[in-house]
Amino acid sequence: MVTVANHPNVEVITYAEIKEISGYIGNFEVTVEKKVRYVDESKCTGCGACAAVCPIEVPNEFDLGLGTRKAIYVPFPQAVPLIYTIDKNYCIDCRLCEGACGPEAIDFNQEPKEIKLKVGTIITATGYDEFDATLKEEYGYGVYDNVITTLELERMINPAGPTGGHEIRPSDGKHPHRTVFIQCVGSRDLKVGNPYCSRICCMFALKNAQLMKMHDPNSEVYICYMDIRSFGKGYEEYYQRAQEQFGVKFIRGRPGTIIEDPETKNLIVRVEDTLMGEVLEIEADLVVLSAGLVSRPETKNLAKMMGLDISPDGFLKELHPKLAPVNTKVDGIAIAGVVQGPKDIPDTVAQAKGAASAVAIPMSKGEFNIEMIRALADEDLCGGCEICGAMCPYNAISYKEEDGHLIAVVDDIACKGCGSCCGACPSGAMQLRYYRDEQIISIIDGIFEAHQLVNH
Ligand code: SF4
Ligand code: SF4
Ligand code: SF4
Ligand code: SF4
Repeated sequence: MVTVANHPNVEVITYAEIKEISGYIGNFEVTVEKKVRYVDESKCTGCGACAAVCPIEVPNEFDLGLGTRKAIYVPFPQAVPLIYTIDKNYCIDCRLCEGACGPEAIDFNQEPKEIKLKVGTIITATGYDEFDATLKEEYGYGVYDNVITTLELERMINPAGPTGGHEIRPSDGKHPHRTVFIQCVGSRDLKVGNPYCSRICCMFALKNAQLMKMHDPNSEVYICYMDIRSFGKGYEEYYQRAQEQFGVKFIRGRPGTIIEDPETKNLIVRVEDTLMGEVLEIEADLVVLSAGLVSRPETKNLAKMMGLDISPDGFLKELHPKLAPVNTKVDGIAIAGVVQGPKDIPDTVAQAKGAASAVAIPMSKGEFNIEMIRALADEDLCGGCEICGAMCPYNAISYKEEDGHLIAVVDDIACKGCGSCCGACPSGAMQLRYYRDEQIISIIDGIFEAHQLVNH
């Protein structure tokens, strides 16, 4: 992150949101709203003196609520750029931070800014959300204190995290001696509408199970799974190591329910071991749900702005799953990472490099070839009904006003010649070059004539 931030040819715009994307390859215009930090980015040194005096403490989102932050904060200590932000949802306007700030970076008069960027190509890499485990009511997440998700465990075992690298039971802060991991929470589950495999949960459960056994070799760690998908290089060996070297216990079965003992806050996990054909009840100190990956809610709006498609799983759709996995149907827009579908870090890095190459090729050539088959509106026939614009999957049609009425205009570069607009146009104004109605009708007439000649 630091290397990127320091690169002379890279401008990192943080605390911002994309508002609009228009144009086409070589000529995109991106409108970015820069949100208000109430801290001058050019003056803030990240010293933290403001946070030290701020009296307001709220749950830290980065630590998933396990730790706290101040109303003036950075999400985590290694954030890039290391610039503080005032959270106006909690700030009480006491101005103590202002007094503590040596470089006078606090600025309560800041206004949001709109930035317009002219870019030739775009890479979309907006990531994912964790599946909302409260939707699996049978596991009691959000109800039972000691049922947590993997991301919460990740924050706990991180030495810079809220518990200093120690896994604890949230109910009493004690070290858990028996932990049960439950796999495929929100993945491969038609009940919650996610038929896909999240691809990383088996491996992160194996990693965390081994870490827990390293921290405390006498602890018991169970993994309840449907089948372990250790498909990458060295992954199967890693799985074997968890079994043989660390003694992690694997139970093939998806737990049906978890019940909490109200006295001890221990959790009774009921699961059918489908290999042994018996129903087990495991009393655990801690249950970790391997919650899957889901598309972020903003992805839909982003796809609409860019004219991209969304796959049935909710992630952005690639142009071709095998032949063009980093390209999209819009020339000049590539995708990388989980925004395209669940994947682990090596796959994400590989895809990111592919996406970088995909956009670098046309930029270094400086030119881009398009097909000649494009739609064209006959200005004399167009009634300005705007049906064609609604039909176009590539956002290629705009309208100009002439003599008080609208006329469709097709962008030759954005248009892909799919013909949808031509079929929908009620006045026959929209035609596809080389495939005009009269050309098609002549072809059909020709076929019939040839057919008649043969039959006589
Ligand atoms: Fe330091 Fe001021 Fe930045 Fe706070 S706002 S981190 S006090 S420079
Ligand atoms: Fe904290 Fe707000 Fe007071 Fe600053 S003005 S110290 S951010 S509560
Ligand atoms: Fe014009 Fe046809 Fe488009 Fe309507 S559908 S705006 S008539 S080109
Ligand atoms: Fe859009 Fe297809 Fe019409 Fe081109 S031919 S303007 S891509 S609907």
